[in-house]
Amino acid sequence: MIEPTPVPILSDNYAWLLREPQSNLLAIVDPAEATPVIAAIEAAIRDRGGELALILLTHHHADHVAGTDEVRARFGVPVVGAKADAHRLPRLDRSVGEGSEVDFGAATARVWETPGHTQGHISYVFTEAAEGVLLCGDTLFSLGCGRLLEGTAEQMFASLQRFAALPPATLVCCGHEYTASNARFARHADPHNADLLAYEQKVLAWRAAGRPSLPSRLADELACNPFLRAADVATLADLRARKDTFR
Ligand code: ZN
Ligand code: FE
Repeated sequence: MIEPTPVPILSDNYAWLLREPQSNLLAIVDPAEATPVIAAIEAAIRDRGGELALILLTHHHADHVAGTDEVRARFGVPVVGAKADAHRLPRLDRSVGEGSEVDFGAATARVWETPGHTQGHISYVFTEAAEGVLLCGDTLFSLGCGRLLEGTAEQMFASLQRFAALPPATLVCCGHEYTASNARFARHADPHNADLLAYEQKVLAWRAAGRPSLPSRLADELACNPFLRAADVATLADLRARKDTFR
């Protein structure tokens, strides 16, 4: 199975370093800040060998792509991103869309178009192993979802419903460490959800210990994340609008 490791960058972003154990190849997702990302890749190679094979981009925002050209120049590996956003992404070596497959050692990432946060947002889905891995950028967050900066609530609802149908053991790799603040709104929106109250305590303990709250388990998101649990578009739209002004 793919082993995902969060690389903390900028103020609260994660790039994701992926290792495919059979080939020992590495991939980096959303390398928005070159220095810490290059250091993390070099440390991973020093510790366990292997080499970088791919740079994967989820969407065009600077806090996901700004270090791309520098990382490509350092390692000489191809950059993969959404064909629909090729005009506003770093130069792509491979443009992908719904249903594209990206070979990564013995694994294959399936590309899903998951609009909502941006129109051209894509996610990378590894489902071969029982413990799959979802790279969802700023579409789904732990206990939250991305803001509707370009897309509609209908699009976000459809994207989240696709994620919800993945195996519950799937590891959810999001673009930001927003979980603790998302938990405050989630508890406000769904005050009687005992699973959510218990999960918030775990998140606070992880964060107090300096540990990332990610990746999360899809099973926990299905139990606790009000945006993923929204039964229809209107409910999701209402939650998103309330969260936008929640303090
Ligand atoms: Zn974004
Ligand atoms: Fe972001």
